[in-house]
Amino acid sequence: MSESQVPLVHAIETTGDNRMPRTYRQHSERHCQEELDATREAYSLLGGKGAERRMTAFDTCRCRAWFVRHVETGDLRVAAKSCKLRWCPLCAKKRSWFLVEQIKPWAEGVSRLKFLTLTLKHSNAPLRDQINNLYTYFQKYRKLRFLRDRIRGGIWFFQIKKSEESGQWHPHLHCLIDSEFMDREKLSQLWQRTTLGSMVIDIREAKSVGKVAEYVGRYSARPSILAELDIDDRVELIGALHGRRLVGMWGNARAIVLKMEKPADADQWRYIGSWSTVHGLQNDDDNAKKILFAWKTGKPLDAGISMLHVEKYIYNLLEFTPKEPPENRQLLLDFKELLF
Ligand SMILES: [Zn+2]
Repeated sequence: MSESQVPLVHAIETTGDNRMPRTYRQHSERHCQEELDATREAYSLLGGKGAERRMTAFDTCRCRAWFVRHVETGDLRVAAKSCKLRWCPLCAKKRSWFLVEQIKPWAEGVSRLKFLTLTLKHSNAPLRDQINNLYTYFQKYRKLRFLRDRIRGGIWFFQIKKSEESGQWHPHLHCLIDSEFMDREKLSQLWQRTTLGSMVIDIREAKSVGKVAEYVGRYSARPSILAELDIDDRVELIGALHGRRLVGMWGNARAIVLKMEKPADADQWRYIGSWSTVHGLQNDDDNAKKILFAWKTGKPLDAGISMLHVEKYIYNLLEFTPKEPPENRQLLLDFKELLF
Protein backbone atom coordinates (compact mmCIF):
# COMPACT_ATOMS: atom_id res chain seq x y z
CA MET A 1 0.00 0.00 0.00
CA SER A 2 1.56 3.32 -1.01
CA GLU A 3 1.69 6.24 1.39
CA SER A 4 -1.07 8.10 -0.44
CA GLN A 5 -3.38 5.13 0.06
CA VAL A 6 -2.97 4.74 3.79
CA PRO A 7 -6.39 5.19 5.36
CA LEU A 8 -6.65 7.76 8.11
CA VAL A 9 -9.14 7.54 10.89
CA HIS A 10 -10.60 10.91 11.56
CA ALA A 11 -12.09 12.24 14.71
CA ILE A 12 -15.82 12.54 15.04
CA GLU A 13 -17.12 15.57 13.31
CA THR A 14 -20.59 16.73 14.01
CA THR A 15 -22.57 18.98 11.77
CA GLY A 16 -25.48 21.28 12.27
CA ASP A 17 -26.64 20.57 8.74
CA ASN A 18 -29.11 17.70 8.72
CA ARG A 19 -28.44 16.64 5.18
CA MET A 20 -25.63 14.16 4.74
CA PRO A 21 -23.46 15.11 1.76
CA ARG A 22 -23.12 12.42 -0.91
CA THR A 23 -19.41 11.96 -0.20
CA TYR A 24 -17.20 12.53 2.80
CA ARG A 25 -15.12 14.82 0.61
CA GLN A 26 -18.13 17.08 0.09
CA HIS A 27 -18.60 17.15 3.83
CA SER A 28 -14.91 17.96 4.41
CA GLU A 29 -14.48 20.65 1.77
CA ARG A 30 -17.35 22.88 2.87
CA HIS A 31 -15.13 25.42 4.59
CA CYS A 32 -12.16 25.44 2.26
CA GLN A 33 -13.53 25.43 -1.27
CA GLU A 34 -11.63 28.55 -2.31
CA GLU A 35 -8.35 27.16 -1.01
CA LEU A 36 -9.00 23.81 -2.69
CA ASP A 37 -9.60 25.54 -6.03
CA ALA A 38 -6.46 27.67 -5.69
CA THR A 39 -4.39 24.61 -4.80
CA ARG A 40 -5.85 22.52 -7.59
CA GLU A 41 -5.04 25.16 -10.18
CA ALA A 42 -1.43 25.38 -8.95
CA TYR A 43 -0.95 21.60 -8.84
CA SER A 44 -2.39 21.28 -12.35
CA LEU A 45 0.31 23.62 -13.68
CA LEU A 46 3.19 22.00 -11.83
CA GLY A 47 3.71 19.13 -14.24
CA GLY A 48 6.76 16.90 -13.81
CA LYS A 49 7.01 13.29 -12.83
CA GLY A 50 3.88 11.84 -11.29
CA ALA A 51 1.76 14.88 -12.21
CA GLU A 52 -1.19 12.80 -13.32
CA ARG A 53 -1.11 10.57 -10.26
CA ARG A 54 -0.86 13.65 -8.04
CA MET A 55 -3.96 15.20 -9.59
CA THR A 56 -5.93 11.98 -9.24
CA ALA A 57 -4.90 11.66 -5.59
CA PHE A 58 -5.80 15.30 -4.92
CA ASP A 59 -9.18 15.08 -6.62
CA THR A 60 -10.17 11.85 -4.91
CA CYS A 61 -8.89 12.72 -1.42
CA ARG A 62 -11.59 11.60 1.06
CA CYS A 63 -14.00 10.44 -1.64
CA ARG A 64 -13.79 6.89 -0.35
CA ALA A 65 -14.85 6.78 3.24
CA TRP A 66 -16.43 4.41 5.68
CA PHE A 67 -17.67 4.38 9.24
CA VAL A 68 -15.79 2.53 11.94
CA ARG A 69 -16.91 1.75 15.47
CA HIS A 70 -14.72 1.24 18.52
CA VAL A 71 -15.37 -2.24 19.86
CA GLU A 72 -15.29 -1.16 23.51
CA THR A 73 -16.54 2.41 23.70
CA GLY A 74 -18.96 2.31 20.77
CA ASP A 75 -17.47 5.58 19.50
CA LEU A 76 -17.97 6.22 15.82
CA ARG A 77 -15.52 7.70 13.36
CA VAL A 78 -15.09 8.12 9.66
CA ALA A 79 -12.04 6.62 8.01
CA ALA A 80 -11.08 7.79 4.53
CA LYS A 81 -8.47 7.42 1.84
CA SER A 82 -6.38 10.57 1.93
CA CYS A 83 -3.97 12.02 -0.63
CA LYS A 84 -1.51 13.32 2.00
CA LEU A 85 -0.23 15.91 -0.41
CA ARG A 86 1.50 18.77 1.38
CA TRP A 87 -0.78 21.47 0.01
CA CYS A 88 -4.09 19.60 0.18
CA PRO A 89 -6.23 21.76 2.49
CA LEU A 90 -8.23 18.73 3.64
CA CYS A 91 -5.15 16.77 4.66
CA ALA A 92 -3.53 19.87 6.16
CA LYS A 93 -6.46 20.39 8.48
CA LYS A 94 -6.19 16.85 9.82
CA ARG A 95 -2.42 17.11 10.09
CA SER A 96 -2.65 20.27 12.15
CA TRP A 97 -5.19 18.66 14.53
CA PHE A 98 -2.79 15.76 14.87
CA LEU A 99 0.16 18.07 15.60
CA VAL A 100 -1.79 19.97 18.23
CA GLU A 101 -2.41 16.67 20.04
CA GLN A 102 1.23 15.60 19.69
CA ILE A 103 2.61 18.89 20.97
CA LYS A 104 0.19 19.32 23.88
CA PRO A 105 1.91 16.93 26.35
CA TRP A 106 5.25 18.69 25.84
CA ALA A 107 3.62 22.13 26.16
CA GLU A 108 1.86 21.08 29.37
CA GLY A 109 5.06 19.63 30.80
CA VAL A 110 7.25 22.73 30.51
CA SER A 111 6.90 25.83 32.62
CA ARG A 112 7.91 28.85 30.55
CA LEU A 113 6.51 28.69 27.06
CA LYS A 114 6.95 31.60 24.67
CA PHE A 115 6.14 32.45 21.09
CA LEU A 116 9.14 33.68 19.11
CA THR A 117 8.84 35.04 15.57
CA LEU A 118 11.87 35.64 13.37
CA THR A 119 11.54 37.51 10.12
CA LEU A 120 13.82 38.42 7.24
CA LYS A 121 13.86 41.88 5.73
CA HIS A 122 12.15 41.97 2.35
CA SER A 123 14.39 41.33 -0.59
CA ASN A 124 14.32 40.71 -4.32
CA ALA A 125 16.57 37.66 -4.04
CA PRO A 126 15.19 34.44 -5.58
CA LEU A 127 12.72 32.77 -3.25
CA ARG A 128 14.80 29.60 -2.88
CA ASP A 129 17.80 31.67 -1.76
CA GLN A 130 15.72 33.57 0.76
CA ILE A 131 14.42 30.34 2.27
CA ASN A 132 17.91 28.80 2.32
CA ASN A 133 19.22 31.88 4.08
CA LEU A 134 16.44 31.91 6.65
CA TYR A 135 17.11 28.27 7.57
CA THR A 136 20.87 28.80 7.76
CA TYR A 137 20.53 31.93 9.90
CA PHE A 138 18.11 30.16 12.19
CA GLN A 139 20.53 27.31 12.80
CA LYS A 140 23.34 29.75 13.58
CA TYR A 141 21.08 31.83 15.81
CA ARG A 142 20.01 28.87 17.90
CA LYS A 143 23.64 27.97 18.49
CA LEU A 144 24.52 31.38 19.93
CA ARG A 145 25.54 31.11 23.55
CA PHE A 146 22.90 33.61 24.70
CA LEU A 147 20.11 31.50 23.24
CA ARG A 148 21.63 28.12 24.03
CA ASP A 149 21.89 29.04 27.69
CA ARG A 150 18.27 30.16 27.92
CA ILE A 151 16.24 27.98 25.55
CA ARG A 152 15.68 24.40 26.65
CA GLY A 153 13.87 23.37 23.50
CA GLY A 154 11.33 24.36 20.90
CA ILE A 155 9.35 23.72 17.76
CA TRP A 156 9.55 25.89 14.67
CA PHE A 157 7.08 26.37 11.83
CA PHE A 158 7.92 27.94 8.49
CA GLN A 159 5.43 30.49 7.13
CA ILE A 160 5.51 32.76 4.13
CA LYS A 161 3.41 35.63 2.79
CA LYS A 162 3.68 38.10 0.00
CA SER A 163 3.82 41.74 0.99
CA GLU A 164 0.91 43.66 -0.51
CA GLU A 165 2.87 46.92 -0.58
CA SER A 166 6.17 45.78 -2.06
CA GLY A 167 5.07 42.55 -3.77
CA GLN A 168 8.08 40.82 -2.16
CA TRP A 169 8.10 37.51 -0.35
CA HIS A 170 8.09 37.57 3.42
CA PRO A 171 9.44 34.26 4.77
CA HIS A 172 9.47 33.89 8.54
CA LEU A 173 9.62 31.36 11.35
CA HIS A 174 7.19 30.94 14.21
CA CYS A 175 8.70 29.15 17.17
CA LEU A 176 7.20 27.80 20.34
CA ILE A 177 10.01 27.75 22.87
CA ASP A 178 10.62 26.63 26.44
CA SER A 179 12.94 29.32 27.76
CA GLU A 180 14.02 31.65 30.52
CA PHE A 181 13.26 35.35 30.20
CA MET A 182 15.06 36.85 27.20
CA ASP A 183 15.29 40.54 26.50
CA ARG A 184 13.63 41.46 23.22
CA GLU A 185 16.26 44.08 22.36
CA LYS A 186 19.08 41.65 22.88
CA LEU A 187 17.34 39.00 20.76
CA SER A 188 16.78 41.52 18.01
CA GLN A 189 20.45 42.63 18.05
CA LEU A 190 21.64 39.05 17.82
CA TRP A 191 19.22 38.28 14.97
CA GLN A 192 20.41 41.38 13.13
CA ARG A 193 24.03 40.30 13.55
CA THR A 194 23.28 36.74 12.40
CA THR A 195 21.25 37.75 9.36
CA LEU A 196 23.41 40.73 8.44
CA GLY A 197 20.59 43.20 8.69
CA SER A 198 17.19 41.75 9.63
CA MET A 199 16.12 42.89 13.02
CA VAL A 200 12.39 42.27 13.28
CA ILE A 201 11.65 39.67 15.90
CA ASP A 202 8.80 39.24 18.30
CA ILE A 203 8.69 37.36 21.57
CA ARG A 204 5.76 36.99 23.90
CA GLU A 205 4.53 34.82 26.71
CA ALA A 206 2.29 31.85 25.81
CA LYS A 207 -0.41 32.47 28.37
CA SER A 208 -2.32 29.18 28.20
CA VAL A 209 -2.29 25.75 26.64
CA GLY A 210 -5.37 26.87 24.71
CA LYS A 211 -3.34 29.68 23.13
CA VAL A 212 -0.56 27.23 22.33
CA ALA A 213 -3.02 24.88 20.62
CA GLU A 214 -4.40 27.80 18.61
CA TYR A 215 -0.88 28.86 17.63
CA VAL A 216 0.17 25.36 16.58
CA GLY A 217 -3.10 24.83 14.73
CA ARG A 218 -2.65 28.07 12.82
CA TYR A 219 0.98 27.67 11.81
CA SER A 220 1.40 23.93 11.44
CA ALA A 221 -1.26 23.31 8.80
CA ARG A 222 0.33 24.86 5.72
CA PRO A 223 3.06 27.47 5.23
CA SER A 224 0.85 29.87 3.29
CA ILE A 225 -2.71 30.53 2.15
CA LEU A 226 -2.59 29.84 -1.57
CA ALA A 227 -5.88 31.60 -2.35
CA GLU A 228 -4.17 34.87 -1.35
CA LEU A 229 -1.49 34.45 -4.03
CA ASP A 230 -1.71 34.79 -7.78
CA ILE A 231 -1.15 31.68 -9.83
CA ASP A 232 2.50 32.38 -10.72
CA ASP A 233 3.36 32.93 -7.07
CA ARG A 234 1.55 29.75 -6.06
CA VAL A 235 3.50 27.66 -8.54
CA GLU A 236 6.79 29.31 -7.56
CA LEU A 237 6.13 28.73 -3.87
CA ILE A 238 5.15 25.09 -4.22
CA GLY A 239 8.30 24.49 -6.29
CA ALA A 240 10.58 26.38 -3.89
CA LEU A 241 9.32 24.40 -0.89
CA HIS A 242 9.38 21.02 -2.56
CA GLY A 243 11.17 18.49 -0.39
CA ARG A 244 11.85 21.01 2.34
CA ARG A 245 11.01 20.58 6.01
CA LEU A 246 8.45 23.06 7.22
CA VAL A 247 8.42 22.15 10.87
CA GLY A 248 11.09 20.89 13.26
CA MET A 249 12.03 20.53 16.90
CA TRP A 250 15.12 20.91 18.99
CA GLY A 251 16.27 20.42 22.59
CA ASN A 252 13.67 19.01 24.96
CA ALA A 253 10.99 19.05 22.22
CA ARG A 254 12.97 16.69 20.02
CA ALA A 255 11.03 13.60 21.09
CA ILE A 256 7.69 14.90 19.75
CA VAL A 257 6.49 12.64 16.96
CA LEU A 258 5.39 14.65 13.94
CA LYS A 259 4.78 11.81 11.52
CA MET A 260 1.20 10.63 11.33
CA GLU A 261 1.17 6.96 12.07
CA LYS A 262 -1.47 4.37 12.71
CA PRO A 263 -3.03 5.05 16.11
CA ALA A 264 -2.14 2.57 18.86
CA ASP A 265 -5.76 1.39 19.08
CA ALA A 266 -6.21 0.96 15.31
CA ASP A 267 -7.19 -2.70 15.70
CA GLN A 268 -10.05 -1.74 18.03
CA TRP A 269 -11.99 -0.03 15.25
CA ARG A 270 -14.33 -2.15 13.14
CA TYR A 271 -15.77 -1.38 9.74
CA ILE A 272 -19.56 -1.00 9.95
CA GLY A 273 -20.46 0.36 6.54
CA SER A 274 -19.37 2.69 3.81
CA TRP A 275 -20.29 6.36 3.63
CA SER A 276 -22.15 5.75 0.39
CA THR A 277 -24.31 2.95 1.86
CA VAL A 278 -25.29 5.08 4.84
CA HIS A 279 -25.91 8.03 2.55
CA GLY A 280 -27.99 5.98 0.13
CA LEU A 281 -30.18 4.51 2.87
CA GLN A 282 -30.26 7.38 5.36
CA ASN A 283 -34.04 7.78 5.02
CA ASP A 284 -34.97 4.12 4.59
CA ASP A 285 -32.87 1.93 6.84
CA ASP A 286 -32.95 1.97 10.66
CA ASN A 287 -29.28 1.12 11.00
CA ALA A 288 -28.29 3.88 8.59
CA LYS A 289 -30.38 6.33 10.63
CA LYS A 290 -28.74 5.18 13.89
CA ILE A 291 -25.24 5.47 12.42
CA LEU A 292 -25.98 8.93 11.12
CA PHE A 293 -27.45 10.00 14.46
CA ALA A 294 -24.40 8.72 16.38
CA TRP A 295 -22.06 10.47 13.97
CA LYS A 296 -23.91 13.78 14.15
CA THR A 297 -24.31 13.79 17.92
CA GLY A 298 -21.01 12.16 18.92
CA LYS A 299 -22.96 9.59 20.96
CA PRO A 300 -21.77 5.96 21.06
CA LEU A 301 -23.36 3.46 18.72
CA ASP A 302 -24.79 0.21 20.06
CA ALA A 303 -22.97 -2.97 19.16
CA GLY A 304 -24.40 -4.88 16.21
CA ILE A 305 -25.55 -1.80 14.29
CA SER A 306 -23.98 -1.82 10.86
CA MET A 307 -24.74 -1.71 7.17
CA LEU A 308 -23.37 -5.19 6.59
CA HIS A 309 -26.86 -6.63 6.14
CA VAL A 310 -27.06 -4.52 2.97
CA GLU A 311 -23.44 -4.70 1.93
CA LYS A 312 -23.28 -8.47 2.35
CA TYR A 313 -26.18 -8.67 -0.06
CA ILE A 314 -24.25 -6.59 -2.56
CA TYR A 315 -21.13 -8.65 -1.93
CA ASN A 316 -23.14 -11.75 -2.74
CA LEU A 317 -24.43 -10.20 -5.92
CA LEU A 318 -20.87 -9.42 -6.93
CA GLU A 319 -19.63 -12.77 -5.61
CA PHE A 320 -17.16 -11.13 -3.26
CA THR A 321 -16.46 -11.89 0.32
CA PRO A 322 -15.87 -9.03 2.80
CA LYS A 323 -12.23 -10.10 2.98
CA GLU A 324 -11.59 -9.37 -0.65
CA PRO A 325 -8.64 -7.06 -1.39
CA PRO A 326 -9.11 -3.27 -1.76
CA GLU A 327 -9.32 -3.33 -5.58
CA ASN A 328 -12.50 -5.34 -5.28
CA ARG A 329 -13.75 -3.10 -2.53
CA GLN A 330 -13.46 -0.24 -4.99
CA LEU A 331 -15.60 -2.18 -7.44
CA LEU A 332 -18.08 -2.68 -4.68
CA LEU A 333 -18.13 1.03 -3.93
CA ASP A 334 -18.62 1.82 -7.59
CA PHE A 335 -21.43 -0.65 -7.73
CA LYS A 336 -23.11 0.96 -4.78
CA GLU A 337 -22.79 4.33 -6.43
CA LEU A 338 -24.95 2.89 -9.18
CA LEU A 339 -27.40 1.48 -6.71
CA PHE A 340 -27.89 4.64 -4.67
ZN1 LIG B 1 -5.69 15.32 0.75
